[in-house]
Amino acid sequence: MASTLRSAIRCTNGSRASFTTSTRVASASRRCLSSRALSQPCRTPNPNLRNAIKLQPSNFNFPTRQLSTVASDPKAVALEIPVFQFKDILPHGELPPTKTLKVNIDGQPFVFDNVFLRDACTCNTCVDPSTQQKLFTTSDIPIDIYPRRARVSDGRLKIEWSHRLTKSAIPENLKSDYHWSFYSGEFLKNSATPIASVKSNMSDFRRIYWDKKIMEKEVFWIEYEDYMKNEVALAKALRHLSFYGLIFIRNVPDGREVDQVPGLAERIGNLKRTFYGDTWTVKSIPKSKNIAYTSLDLGLHMDLLYFESPPGLQFLHCVENTVTGGESYFADAMRAAFMIQATSPTVFDTLTRFPVNFHYHNDAKHYRFSRPIVVMKNPSENYHPQLGIDHINWAPPFQAPFTMDNTGAMVSKSTHWRKFLKGMGQLNDQFENPANQYEYLLKEGDCVVFFNRRVLHARRGFDAQSGKRRLTGGYVDIDAFESACRVLAERHPDEGRQDTTGFEYLTEHAKDFGYTQWS
Ligand SMILES: [Zn+2]
Repeated sequence: MASTLRSAIRCTNGSRASFTTSTRVASASRRCLSSRALSQPCRTPNPNLRNAIKLQPSNFNFPTRQLSTVASDPKAVALEIPVFQFKDILPHGELPPTKTLKVNIDGQPFVFDNVFLRDACTCNTCVDPSTQQKLFTTSDIPIDIYPRRARVSDGRLKIEWSHRLTKSAIPENLKSDYHWSFYSGEFLKNSATPIASVKSNMSDFRRIYWDKKIMEKEVFWIEYEDYMKNEVALAKALRHLSFYGLIFIRNVPDGREVDQVPGLAERIGNLKRTFYGDTWTVKSIPKSKNIAYTSLDLGLHMDLLYFESPPGLQFLHCVENTVTGGESYFADAMRAAFMIQATSPTVFDTLTRFPVNFHYHNDAKHYRFSRPIVVMKNPSENYHPQLGIDHINWAPPFQAPFTMDNTGAMVSKSTHWRKFLKGMGQLNDQFENPANQYEYLLKEGDCVVFFNRRVLHARRGFDAQSGKRRLTGGYVDIDAFESACRVLAERHPDEGRQDTTGFEYLTEHAKDFGYTQWS
């Protein structure tokens, strides 16, 4: 290996040539990276996930090494290490100290930090092959580490490092001199730019904003049988759910005797247990502790915002419905916020900062949490205006009195208060506009699933004397949902790749507001 490197350098005389290399990357190397996410749930199956997505052992139990022998992918990544970046080549073909390594990916140069690369090593001594857990800390890497040798072969970048890790707590075999690391072309490509990095690390980055007209056209229904038994159909449904934040399941079995919500929820992940129970029932009862249990009109809101970690996904199964009225309706709160972001940036900014207090103080419980109405994504998860907003907090029935503003000033002295109120009013106007609401009267056997942090839900008042109305609900955390989406996308990559839903819309929308970085 060293001699290959040396001869390459000699022959090109240190000028603008490259080490050898156009190569095809086995699709397996991609799977090798993603096998991290898959292996844990698989190796230690959680008995609680009765109906969770069944992981096929053959998909991920074979050793990592075997993966590199799988036939090559049509999506080949060409890697090159340009020689000219090294001013001096040391005797014996060793490379001189550097802070970064430049790699040509499909002919384009990208620069990788040496510590980033060393940290990302997934060899069997750096990442436990059984648990897929990393065996060292980033701070164990000497900051002056550099590639002592580097080359490309078998479609992978191979680096021999100048330094070993520093900590003594790490396994003995990590202490050996001259550790070798291997990187797939796809990993490097996915790590090279913000866009590639976001795309490869999120389950699906698309969010399609909707109003009544769009939802009436795009509303998505899946049959219960497909949802429970057909993984490809489930993948499609969850992708739609991640784009729009709202889907419906039909022909769910009778929930009067056997609660169907646990089965529906656990197809995605664990039920989130709250003080309402694993699941809960909404029906008209007198002297209710919660407005949801009465027959009054229940306005647009989100659930449990007084929790530190409110649920991401909500299921509502219609078990019985023979009353007059009681239509459900939904609104895309993220779209409303985006409209304000696009038209009144300073008002929008106040909505991202001014704290709103939410509480539940009743029935021997006192929950409380403060959060701004609009929460933005981390910059590392955001490269497009439509990704800027992460979620919305809106639950008027559970608001507590205001206290201080985001600078610590009492509301009476706050210079942000009036602007904040203006923003709240603009948001509410958007929510209440019937052109932004999708209305549907749930029938027995229907189950609606929605993003509790994005889509507002509400119910029209109904005549409690006119019949029976009973819904059963449950929650699943967004982490479980995103995990299920990633696993399904890994397992059915072709399904997702062909799905261009929303791309056109995103592109058009971005242009409207002067954003050009989308591609
Ligand atoms: Zn390693």
